[in-house]
Amino acid sequence: MGVVHEVGAQVVGVTPGDRVYVNPGRSCGACHACGSGTPQKCQYWTLGGYYLGTSYAAAKKHDPLAGKSLIVNGATGTLGVGVTLATLALGASRVFAVARGVPLLECGKSPRTVSRSSPTGRVVPRHG
Ligand SMILES: [Zn+2]
Repeated sequence: MGVVHEVGAQVVGVTPGDRVYVNPGRSCGACHACGSGTPQKCQYWTLGGYYLGTSYAAAKKHDPLAGKSLIVNGATGTLGVGVTLATLALGASRVFAVARGVPLLECGKSPRTVSRSSPTGRVVPRHG
């Protein structure tokens, strides 16, 4: 998150003072999903490296993770996706991914309730 301080003469749609956010998602930009405004469904969708580095650093603070179970709140957010992947890579046996966006949890590109023994995971709907 940041604020635009200056723009070049060729820039349109952004002016100084605008609040901006760098979308960490990367996709091909050419497939049907990208063209229809759902790049997160692109088969090449991935996160930018900065977010993965931040997530990895957070996960390392709790290392060793081997055999541990964790809860990642906000698991469909940029850092949540990275933390979930990093903790699994560092040996966590289970990650309970919590998020508000059930459609995104259902999407194969986001972490779900995942364990090493059941890597396909499952979505548990919220009750109440
Ligand atoms: Zn695409």
